Amino acid sequence: MSNRTFPDLNPPPRILLGAGPSNVHPRVYQAMMTPILGHLDPDFLHIMDETKDLLRAVFRTQNEETIAVSGTGSAGMEAAVANLIEPGERAVVCINGFFGDRIAEMASRYGAEVTRVEAEWGRIIEAEAVEAALKAVGPTKVVAIVHAETSTGVLQPLDDIVRLAHEHDALLLVDTVTSLGGCEVAVDGWGIDACHSASQKCLSCPPGMAPLTFSPRAADALRGRETKVRSWYLDMTLLDNYWGGKRAYHHTAPMTMVYALREGLRLVLEEGLEARVGRHQRNGQALWAGLEAMGLTLHAQEGYRLPVLTTVRIPEGIEDVKLRRALLYEHNIEIAGGLGPLAGKVWRIGLMGVASSAENVLAVLAALEQELSAQGFRLEKGAGVAAADRLLGSP
Ligand SMILES: *Cc1c(COP(=O)(O)O)cnc(C)c1O
Repeated sequence: MSNRTFPDLNPPPRILLGAGPSNVHPRVYQAMMTPILGHLDPDFLHIMDETKDLLRAVFRTQNEETIAVSGTGSAGMEAAVANLIEPGERAVVCINGFFGDRIAEMASRYGAEVTRVEAEWGRIIEAEAVEAALKAVGPTKVVAIVHAETSTGVLQPLDDIVRLAHEHDALLLVDTVTSLGGCEVAVDGWGIDACHSASQKCLSCPPGMAPLTFSPRAADALRGRETKVRSWYLDMTLLDNYWGGKRAYHHTAPMTMVYALREGLRLVLEEGLEARVGRHQRNGQALWAGLEAMGLTLHAQEGYRLPVLTTVRIPEGIEDVKLRRALLYEHNIEIAGGLGPLAGKVWRIGLMGVASSAENVLAVLAALEQELSAQGFRLEKGAGVAAADRLLGSP
């Protein structure tokens, strides 16, 4: 062994404007410093109950089966898929980006016969395409779709898709990982049957908890299963026995993350759901105006742009990685590159949770202007910031 020493942790104070994680609210960090309790301590069980009530308020649901899975957003996704699908059943999965594809992959691993309904990365899934698929394939257990596609910056309208799924007696599974806490989500009002999210996007917590809720129809389907859920860890019946019901030990809840989620959700309600959605919308629109005023082109279909995650095309001749490095090292700002077919073609700029602020909009626009200019991109100096500023008004 060498005499190598390891210094105290001292990560730089980044502004996280990528595709998640986003910045953690100071009050969430504070909640995470409070002492842990035993996993069956009545005081901890009470905190779990409060967290469930907070989740119901933010999901806008009365669903009894509402918990947070210990794990990241993908664990929530996998829990929804694993519990609702039995081997040999049909799943119609809508795919217009990276995360729709991930749902399809999971569904096939759990034995589903998967029918893919695809659209270009950057456009919404048209209800007609879902209808055609449902008519063509016959009895379908689950229709799955991503509400906010973080890979493309598209916000998917759900009303027609819900109606079609229910007309065909299928359950609707919706990924709200990036929309919950930033965009309108109304689980009961919209008729969603299974809905999962994640702590580290618009809820301003670290990654590690995945909110999950099942409608009474989904819960019935779960109770009516002929086969055991293939994942023991993600079996909703076992999880629900710990989060409610018998309070039976299943796994040791990560108390610190439950505290974090509870505080993140409390912050959402303190701000008010409507005000919070309005803030994300306003800041997103200001960013779009600023990017366009700089001469850049937004990638997502107009009218369906996601205010919490903007995709913007990388101009010809600009080096993607070099620019993102410069933003990170010179400005302490993280943005994300493109995924899959959009790699090297777009940047993804997140404005999620506490990071969705007027200051961050102006900061990222100013930094982009500087680094684009440094690479020889011709733009009108100050135009981006000025355009955004006009929409943001005086603070
Ligand atoms: C981030 C994300 C996920 C995956 O979440 P992880 O926390 O990375 O596991 C799933 N769906 C969407 C839409 C996401 O943006």
